Amino acid sequence: MNSQVRFFVVFLPFVLLILSTTSCGKFNKKEIPSLSKQSVQTGDEQAFDTYYENIPELKPLDKSKVYTIRVLRVKDNRLPDWSSSEYEELYREIEKGVKKYLGYRIQMKEVGQKEIVSFFASFSETFMQPPFRFWVGNHYLRLDLEEDRKRLRETISSEIQKRSPQVVRNYIPENRRREVDTFEKTVDFFYNEFLQKHIEIGKTDTFEKTPLRDGVYEITQQYMYWSALLMNLREADFVITNSIIAGADDGMPIYVINRGGVTSALTENNIHNELQGTIGMTLFPFISNEEFFLVARGSIPKHRVVYIVAMMAVHEFGHLLGRYREYYDQPGTPYNAPRGLAYYDWYRKILKNPLAKIPVKLETLEKY
Ligand SMILES: [Zn+2]
Repeated sequence: MNSQVRFFVVFLPFVLLILSTTSCGKFNKKEIPSLSKQSVQTGDEQAFDTYYENIPELKPLDKSKVYTIRVLRVKDNRLPDWSSSEYEELYREIEKGVKKYLGYRIQMKEVGQKEIVSFFASFSETFMQPPFRFWVGNHYLRLDLEEDRKRLRETISSEIQKRSPQVVRNYIPENRRREVDTFEKTVDFFYNEFLQKHIEIGKTDTFEKTPLRDGVYEITQQYMYWSALLMNLREADFVITNSIIAGADDGMPIYVINRGGVTSALTENNIHNELQGTIGMTLFPFISNEEFFLVARGSIPKHRVVYIVAMMAVHEFGHLLGRYREYYDQPGTPYNAPRGLAYYDWYRKILKNPLAKIPVKLETLEKY
């Protein structure tokens, strides 16, 4: 062994160890970048626009073909989770539901399990690529920053302006409607409602007696990070986590604002797979027995939870396989997303509706 080789063999591991433990973020690939509007650089927005324009339009999928859906399980070790057999039961229910309500044939096949922080860290470089640095940095609201709290208020204000007064009013409890009687007071109402719920969700206890939204875990619960990650995923078509998406961004619709930032599931573009899209699903809002969720969602009989999560997955597969847009006016069908966290009520209405599985002509999307 010559001295040069020996140097590398003996010292290289130390050099790598030092590099990986210093907070020298630029060289530390494992650190998930904490992006904000300040992270966005000149040209990033253009890079995102170009990226988006170049995504091919969604092609219709074939109902006679069986599509294999590669499933990745992503685990937050601090939170309750299902057993492998419960997951298997879920996959079989989803397959049946997709056939019954959408007419597509799928086969769900687990391809791996990952710990959530290291899973996100494996996308650290992706998050720093110009299109995704823009996508996340420009839209994610970091509520520890005063400027972003101002942007949250603006988001709420413009969302209220977009919706009809009747729709907005439906989200205000009856006993508050009299006092919330001007536009400014309505913005205040939703702003306070959002922050109160958002903070309460974040404080939810974990097994480690740490808060749910703690340190690096905050990023793993952000819609914008999930969105960027799903666009870049190569190893799976469907990700399911026992965690939650309860973030803040400047594109939140009123029903997400009203539940403190919770998104149960999402479907994103993906240029790497045959389906041209990926689904991300969260379990925590369905299975948590913490007070906030018991109040907002109500309790769901244990034997029903798998069926309800499966129905939520059918809704997402409507986006992914049928290419359907989001619907608000198809009550009693899986095409409508559940209102608030009232999953059980939503599920029962679908079961009771004899027309739920009769396909209606639905509008399709060119891109997600
Ligand atoms: Zn949807």
